[in-house]
Amino acid sequence: MAYSPLNGGLFPKRLLHPAFPVVIFIVFFGLAAGFRYGLIGQYTGQIQSNLENETRSMANTLEREFMVHADAIRRMASRLAKDPQKPESEWREDARNYLNDFRIYQAIEWIDRDFIIRWLEPLASNEGVVGFNSAFNQQRRSALEAAIRTGNYDISGVIELRQGGKGIVIYAPVGTGPNNNGFVAGVFKMETLARQLMATREPGMFRIEIRSRGATVYTLSDFERSDATASYTVPIKLPTLNWQLNLEPSPEWFEKQTSPWPRWTFITLLFMGLLTSLATLFLQLILKRNEALLTARRKLDEEIAQRETIQQDLVRLESTDTLTGLANRRFFMEDLAHTLNIANRQSYQVALVMLDLDRFQMLNDSLGHQFGDALLVQVAGCLNQLSNERVTVAYSGGDEFMICLQHVEDIDDVLHLLGRIKQCFETPFNVQGEAHKITATLGVAVYPQSGLDADTLLRNADIALYRAKEQGRNTYQFYTEGMQEREVMRLELEKDLSQALVKNEFVLHYQPQLNLDSGEINSVEALIRWQHPRRGLLAPGEFIPLAEESGRITEIGHWVVMAACQQLAAWRGTRFEHLRVAVNLSGRELDDDSLVERVRNTLAAEGVPADRLEVELTEEIFIQNIEHNLGQLRRLHDLGVHLAIDDFGVGYSSLAYLRNFPVDLLKIDRSFITEVTERHDDAVITRAVINLAHNLGLQVVAEGVETRAQLDLLRSQGCNMAQGYLISRPVPAVELEKALSNGAFEQV
Ligand code: C2E
Ligand code: CA
Ligand code: CA
Repeated sequence: MAYSPLNGGLFPKRLLHPAFPVVIFIVFFGLAAGFRYGLIGQYTGQIQSNLENETRSMANTLEREFMVHADAIRRMASRLAKDPQKPESEWREDARNYLNDFRIYQAIEWIDRDFIIRWLEPLASNEGVVGFNSAFNQQRRSALEAAIRTGNYDISGVIELRQGGKGIVIYAPVGTGPNNNGFVAGVFKMETLARQLMATREPGMFRIEIRSRGATVYTLSDFERSDATASYTVPIKLPTLNWQLNLEPSPEWFEKQTSPWPRWTFITLLFMGLLTSLATLFLQLILKRNEALLTARRKLDEEIAQRETIQQDLVRLESTDTLTGLANRRFFMEDLAHTLNIANRQSYQVALVMLDLDRFQMLNDSLGHQFGDALLVQVAGCLNQLSNERVTVAYSGGDEFMICLQHVEDIDDVLHLLGRIKQCFETPFNVQGEAHKITATLGVAVYPQSGLDADTLLRNADIALYRAKEQGRNTYQFYTEGMQEREVMRLELEKDLSQALVKNEFVLHYQPQLNLDSGEINSVEALIRWQHPRRGLLAPGEFIPLAEESGRITEIGHWVVMAACQQLAAWRGTRFEHLRVAVNLSGRELDDDSLVERVRNTLAAEGVPADRLEVELTEEIFIQNIEHNLGQLRRLHDLGVHLAIDDFGVGYSSLAYLRNFPVDLLKIDRSFITEVTERHDDAVITRAVINLAHNLGLQVVAEGVETRAQLDLLRSQGCNMAQGYLISRPVPAVELEKALSNGAFEQV
């Protein structure tokens, strides 16, 4: 699995949860609120103590002022006590000085023993006060009497002044007890007093109340009373009075006292929280995007890997044949081209071997495709054992394989390889529980002499293979320059062959078969020739395989039967009327279901009895398509047509088939006859075949008899008939007739 910062552990997964930035913000908010609360608490305490200090300091000032004035009044009183005869004018002088010194006084009075106000300074606007009784109620009287007794001064509460407004009066007794001569009294206007208190302070900052026994007796206020809870009260320590000072600050004062820090701290922290959570959110987005990219990348990687695997599979499938598991033709050819490139540069040779299984088609047709496939797999398995770093093996299709020897030093290397290939076919292949002996034909082309490129090399290996096949299979051929010409010819012939029938270029030659008992010629074999317009008379070996390959053999076969029948018809009523004509049919012609019908029609058309015609077939009919072939042969035989097995002994047929097939004649293959007088084993085989045929009630013809010795041997072995150059070459009908008429065969 690809590395991911998310799964890899750099960040726990929950940090990517969308709630995480919100949590961060909430934490910061809590922090901000906490700080704010704490700071506000701290500052509120501060403000409270400021207020207390302010209040106390105001009370102190008030007390000090009072005491100063009280002392001044008392001093005045004691001076008057010392000098009871002080004239009024002198007292007034004294009082005026006081008034000037302490601007706070509204008035200074002398009150006599009976509490009546006598003297007053300043008199102006205070005239009405003279004669007023200061002990205007019982409380005042007792207080004043107490003052006389003790000699202490008395301070009135806040009273309505006779002069108007509210005020306080300090009474200092003049002399004590019986020596008392009234009081000197100083009258303050509350307002003046308060103003003096406020003098050092900014205006409008406080609401000041003076309370006596809880009740407000005086208020100095520059603003309307707020419902603010912040206020502070301290007692004012003055003799005879029970006063308190209550200070209530104005909102402006609060404003001034209030620190901006809680707010700024709050805002700052909140802002930081917002930033942090935004940054987190952003980071999350980036990481998620990154993760998405990584996931996409991983998926892409997986997909690419998958595709590569598929691609490799495809390439492997494309380069491999699915049946055999070998490299296929295309791949082999690409590889060959590459090999030739290297060989060119390093100046060495390369050998290409084309391998074709002999009679594979026949086996495939007769034993089925499954058998064919199984056989191919076995052959492939065996050939594949040859492959190594210098040898590549491929399946070319059909029953063809290709083998490349990539580095050839000399011809021995190739011969060694061919030997190893041959070894593959030495032991029979076990297919579907049965052992099958298979042979192969090889064509070899060597680079550079047999071709400079892969295609040419392949074509020439093919040509060599074709030549090897022509030479009887189970062999090999190296490509030679001459083969190229042959190949050109072959292609030309193939083209011309398509016209040969129409142009009536085929002819039949007849080779007589000598009856060894009677010395008579009773039958002839019709052998086809092609009178080629440029190349002259061509033997069947040069065009029959071509015709078989192209499928033209069927039409040619019809022509042969027809031509033979016409010849028989021509001989009717002559001295050759008794001759039987044998025609050659290839196995493929037997596949044609209309064959029997056509033969019958041809015989009928020419008015020829069926027993004048003989059909020669090779052993392969016992191997391929047995049921069908058996049916065909039975019907031919039922017509009255004679049946002969040609080239007997070279095929791989089981002799048991001879019992089942309606055969009249066996033709021992020429290969046994050629050296029958020299080779003991050939003689043995020949005798065995003759005996076998006779035991089965069949006649025997020996082919390719060229010497008298051969003929004598065959005759001594009881062979029924002989055919060969010794008696006659295949000749045109006219010559045959002449020879027969001349009794040319009678000396043999
Ligand atoms: P085959 O049926 O075995 O014919 C005998 C071949 O041996 C003939 O070759 C013949 O000329 C040759 N021969 C006969 N006596 C001797 C001899 O003493 N010595 C030697 N060396 N050869 C001898 P040919 O005419 O070239 O025919 C070759 C093959 O072509 C035939 O072999 C036959 O398989 C095929 N063939 C010929 N005519 C026809 C035909 O009309 N139809 C088909 N399908 N095949 C034909
Ligand atoms: Ca024949
Ligand atoms: Ca033959």
